[in-house]
Amino acid sequence: MMSDAALHERINTEQSLFINGRWSESASGRRFPVFNPATGQVVAHVSDGDAADARRAVDAAYAAFPQWSRLPAYRRGVMLRQAAALMYERRDELARTLTLEMGKPIREARGEISYAASFLEWFAGEGERAYGDIIPPMAPGKRHLVLKQPVGVVAAITPWNFPAAMVTRKVAPALAAGCTVVLKPAEQTPLTAMALMDIFAEAGVPPGVINLVTTNDPAAVADAWLSDHRVRKITFTGSTEVGKLLMRKAADQVKRVSLELGGHAPVIVFDDADVDKAVRGTMASKFRNSGQTCVCANRIYVQKGIYERFAEKFTAAVRNLRVADGLSEDAEVGPLVDEAALEKVTAHVEDAVARGAELLAGGRRVTEGELARGWFFLPTVLAGVRDDMRIMREETFGPVAPLIPFEHEAEAYERANDSPYGLAAYVFTENISRGIRAAERLEYGIIGLNDGTPSTAQVPFGGFKESGIGREGGPYGIHEFLEVKLVGLAVDEEPR
Ligand code: NAD
Repeated sequence: MMSDAALHERINTEQSLFINGRWSESASGRRFPVFNPATGQVVAHVSDGDAADARRAVDAAYAAFPQWSRLPAYRRGVMLRQAAALMYERRDELARTLTLEMGKPIREARGEISYAASFLEWFAGEGERAYGDIIPPMAPGKRHLVLKQPVGVVAAITPWNFPAAMVTRKVAPALAAGCTVVLKPAEQTPLTAMALMDIFAEAGVPPGVINLVTTNDPAAVADAWLSDHRVRKITFTGSTEVGKLLMRKAADQVKRVSLELGGHAPVIVFDDADVDKAVRGTMASKFRNSGQTCVCANRIYVQKGIYERFAEKFTAAVRNLRVADGLSEDAEVGPLVDEAALEKVTAHVEDAVARGAELLAGGRRVTEGELARGWFFLPTVLAGVRDDMRIMREETFGPVAPLIPFEHEAEAYERANDSPYGLAAYVFTENISRGIRAAERLEYGIIGLNDGTPSTAQVPFGGFKESGIGREGGPYGIHEFLEVKLVGLAVDEEPR
């Protein structure tokens, strides 16, 4: 494994724009710091790209498109598979970079690198299977062919919470489809994205096919891309607020959009659930990434008959979680990503407690020892949570689990669906009929049935309502990057 010193040397680059296959500085020469959330210390300074850099990236992607899109899908697939192989090979090193810039426990970071690589492998195959159609004609002398063609240059904007997986979940289907890409990672986590650029280049992906612009001014870069006719599609993962903004701006040129936005996932634990399974599944959904995932449990509805048993076992498990610097091998909960995240989580807990919620565990920032330097919040359980509390409406994005008792099945569905979001929902029951009813009644794009972690590269990921548009992953993911073209053919009758 790489030493910390070597790692620092490697990521301390001040040339972090990757355009047309070369590393460069920003046009302005400005830089911005990247922090380690576990210590509050600066780990690197990276280039602060602006609109001029953003346009330069589009120049490269636009120029690379004709050749890349005409390459046989098989050849593109070979490069994607090679990139995946390099990610597996460098898993430990990539995971350390990832943890250093965003804080998640190192074991989770390794898992994320594998998960991220699996999108490259999956979409390498999906590119080869992006079949068109031949549709039987209604009239004699007509033939109808349907071709699937890449949409063109794609702009991808990704969040900090999965610095590797959110990149490959977009880039893999785009490249497999034959699109070229300009990518802007979150300002908190540019380093993992930078490491991935080296991997694509080493895997043989030609210059200009994938380009990276790091920036501390996301709106400037996004606006340059949204106003550029050469960019045909925008794919975004992040907050609903920014997603709406991008969608409005994309309307001007009717650009294709895919949006993976915020969530407010309900968990429903029915009386007939296996309590240990329900605790395990809810823990996995709630505390992964310190509660900073869009599919994290935000409201945990527990039926009256099982409430006491569930609350007791769940609270005991939460108290047992080991909070530590993500780089330490036994960390189970790392820091929050930044000071603003810590403030939001603190405000949600204080609001709930002020309105009468009861703290069963945690409830505050870590203020003792080494961890006081970082942005750590104790894993928290709140009981007696009511619908008028902020935590029930807004995404908390932190390690806070609100427990809410309920009586009847229909009430659970009604309360769970009472949200502008519709990304993920979880149900725990041993009754198969009830499980199916719940899966059908819940207005969410992803249902975990006795399963706290339902996502893999092979299945669709995406939300209803204000949680987004389109699907990533699975056979659906590549269609977001393909246009459907009709070739209508008039065929002469056979001469007599
Ligand atoms: P955010 O929307 O602030 O940031 C996400 C990205 O958007 C970053 O790259 C950021 O630089 C960029 N951005 C910010 N302002 C912008 C602007 N005005 N114009 C263009 N780009 C802009 O979100 P965040 O708080 O950093 O990330 C967490 C959010 O992401 C949560 O809401 C979470 O639910 C969501 N998320 C969704 C999914 C999903 O698949 N649905 C996955 C992960 C995270």
